[in-house]
Amino acid sequence: MKIFGLDLQQYETKKEPDFRVRDKLETITVPLKGGFGTSLSPRVEVGDEVEAGEIIARNDDSTSTPALASLAGEVIEIVKLDSYHEETGDKLEAKVPGIKINVSSNQGTNGSGVDWEKEKPKNLRELLYLAGLTSFGQTGVPTEFNSSLFSPTEVEHVLINGVKTEPFVHHLIDYGEEFTLFKTGLEILARAFPKSQIHFVLDRNTRENLEELSSSQRIKIHIVEYESYMSKSKMLARNILGEEKLDEGGYLLDHGLLVLPEIFPLAAYRAVVEGTPFIRGRLSLSGPATEDRVVETPIGAPIKYALGEDIMDKAEELTIMGGPLSGNKLENLDLPVNKNMDSLVQLPKPQGSQVLAWLHPGLGKNSYTNAFFSALAPNRKKVADSGLHGEERPCVYCGWCSDVCPVDILPFQILKTYDHGMVDEVNRLQPQRCVDCGLCSYVCPSKLPLSETVKRAKQDQPGENHNYVEYEEDEEGLMSVITPEDEKGRGEESE
Ligand code: SF4
Ligand code: SF4
Repeated sequence: MKIFGLDLQQYETKKEPDFRVRDKLETITVPLKGGFGTSLSPRVEVGDEVEAGEIIARNDDSTSTPALASLAGEVIEIVKLDSYHEETGDKLEAKVPGIKINVSSNQGTNGSGVDWEKEKPKNLRELLYLAGLTSFGQTGVPTEFNSSLFSPTEVEHVLINGVKTEPFVHHLIDYGEEFTLFKTGLEILARAFPKSQIHFVLDRNTRENLEELSSSQRIKIHIVEYESYMSKSKMLARNILGEEKLDEGGYLLDHGLLVLPEIFPLAAYRAVVEGTPFIRGRLSLSGPATEDRVVETPIGAPIKYALGEDIMDKAEELTIMGGPLSGNKLENLDLPVNKNMDSLVQLPKPQGSQVLAWLHPGLGKNSYTNAFFSALAPNRKKVADSGLHGEERPCVYCGWCSDVCPVDILPFQILKTYDHGMVDEVNRLQPQRCVDCGLCSYVCPSKLPLSETVKRAKQDQPGENHNYVEYEEDEEGLMSVITPEDEKGRGEESE
């Protein structure tokens, strides 16, 4: 990935990740929300024995997807967990309930699958729902079971996002060994949504037997240049739906587009053909402070367990959920792995004094500016760390933030007007077009919080322009989704 000559692939490790399974656990805490949806009420009580794959929380009355026990054992506690916004990463006031289980067996499920080619689309959608898979997507996967704000007939395009997200982050599928299963998963999706076109978007770096996929009329392959921002759902939407749709507000499914993660076809295959629900998540582990791995771990295992014993006690490292450009710092590694987590990056914290560090990022540190020494040694191996290399400073009007922005907005102008509370001016600058790539913050020599501020400005957008799912606390302090109907009702009340 290059940004005006700055090659972020210098940070890549060329090594293929090692696939591992982590499954020796004493306790797990299954969050009763995975991805989109409201908090669920438990269907089990303290003292109950549960099986791996058993539905332990389900609520068909509100938009949600069932939660499943990922391992067998005894329910020992119902807890309240911190919650974070799925799209912005912001910590929310509302809590999410969790069911803590004393694990009695680390065995998986003994499910049995179906002959997917003979099943009706509705039955396939039901299997996806019961397997806990319908919480994916910006607003859930539509089924007949209230798993989304939308209905299955509104899905015109299903898009599988196989674009590698950012430096360090690995693909989660082994496209050699698992290709046939993945391909069958795409075909299952085509059958489950018979009126939709299935798209598989991947980056050029992914080598694989694509011609086999392109033989199907229902599955289209799209190859995009490997740029970190191309993995963002809105950029993919632009690719599929055309440029003008990107700038419109609302959810992607308002435009008939359901974007699902790379893991989804494989998980759909396992759920439908093998009868194995989605109880194990896959995580890419990477960064200069750890080894390159893709680990499969039960949903509800502590994040530090997924990271591995060899690295989890190194307090000096910074763990980021997502990628280093647009991910979020993880404060608490005791939180459980949830369904939507797909990558953890570990960066070392810089050692020693950082006095006037911005003047000397050094030969081993990358920088967007050619004024630093590192520009003299373009081929020297660069090492990323978590330091700012100098504190936040006033803007120097270099214009790099707007040069690098893939959707041509003016991050600095948004920051300035937002900080001064100039609401109309902020709206005029169209922050809703931002795709959260994080590049503006990355290139800013003054280290200003550009992408964070644009995100906030976007969330504050009025009415139909906002395109984030919004959450609030219910009367018990638990997370619930604010639907467009809720917002409409509130608007009417206040009129
Ligand atoms: S404003 Fe920043 S984060 Fe948003 S799209 Fe532009 S460069 Fe990316
Ligand atoms: S990159 Fe930073 S310093 Fe340069 S114009 Fe943008 S905000 Fe200002």
